Amino acid sequence: MIRFASASKSYRVEGTLVPALEPVDLTIEAGEVFGIIGHSGAGKSTLLRLINLLERPTAGQVFIADRDVTHATGAELRRLRAGIGMIFQHFNLLSSRTVADNVAFPLRLHGEHDEAQIQARVDELLALVGLTAHARKYPAQLSGGQKQRVGIARALASKPSILLCDEATSALDPQTTASVLELLADINRQLGLTIVLITHEMDVIRRVCDRVAVLDAGRVVEVGDVADVFLHPQHPTTRRFVAEADHREGRGPAFPGIDGRLFRLSFRGAATYSPLLSRVVRDTGIEYNLLSGRVDRIKDTPYGQLTLAMHGERLDEALAQLRASDVDIEEVAR
Ligand code: ADP
Ligand code: MG
Repeated sequence: MIRFASASKSYRVEGTLVPALEPVDLTIEAGEVFGIIGHSGAGKSTLLRLINLLERPTAGQVFIADRDVTHATGAELRRLRAGIGMIFQHFNLLSSRTVADNVAFPLRLHGEHDEAQIQARVDELLALVGLTAHARKYPAQLSGGQKQRVGIARALASKPSILLCDEATSALDPQTTASVLELLADINRQLGLTIVLITHEMDVIRRVCDRVAVLDAGRVVEVGDVADVFLHPQHPTTRRFVAEADHREGRGPAFPGIDGRLFRLSFRGAATYSPLLSRVVRDTGIEYNLLSGRVDRIKDTPYGQLTLAMHGERLDEALAQLRASDVDIEEVAR
């Protein structure tokens, strides 16, 4: 659906070109929720804005649905942008217009619909985002979550096939964030829309994304399925993001008073709910101390990740049994 081919971007600042994005090669599949995570200034917004050509690449190409759109202008550019919706951290609503008029705005702008069609479409969109009862209110009368729902309805007005989300939940509290992410996941499922979402929070990625790219100082340093990246982060930047999301601290030489070797066990899917560990412990007579752990979901897949100190004569056997049951085991240096 979206492909970057060595696409890079430099900005001209006071006469000199300053690189914001090193050449990026990345493919985003139709219908997936693709996350891009990175710290402030990493180049996330720049990368996102290359998709709808709010920014043009300095070099390289951008493909949408296999068409090279790098130099699109005029009618082609308008058509392209009509097929790509966007939502923002600060919602960007028109404060002097009602909710309904904000949603209708892109439809009126393009002048392709009569007023009855517009009303019908607005009703449909407001129902989709759960704001039917708020159609006549003004943005100032809405909560943050409701404002973002208006933003989403407006972005979907022209039936785009791609939705770009630039830190869409960063101004919202955790509970509202969860409900907006749920709405995005629903929209992805119901409408088959491709969603590209940028964030600085790994938890946002974990809740809704299928795949993720990690951006660090203008470079894509890691790409993969969210479960793989979340459970086995490779790059130091990714590790830091995961550690933050996991409330993991002091993974280094912790727990000096505890015997045994440290292992991190990762379970996915059904294995999360089966009493594997207790069975293996009973079979082999090893001992363990649970040092930290989390059982949660990555999108729809349950997972567990536990850090244990383990010791006993038959430790190797215990590890082999766990591995044979699809538990992923990494030894943690202590
Ligand atoms: P992020 O969204 O990850 O915070 P951005 O893509 O906004 O990062 O910015 C990446 C880098 O490019 C930053 O160093 C930023 O200062 C710079 N930058 C972004 N937009 C412009 C611009 N319009 N002109 C000059 N520099 C810019
Ligand atoms: Mg940004």
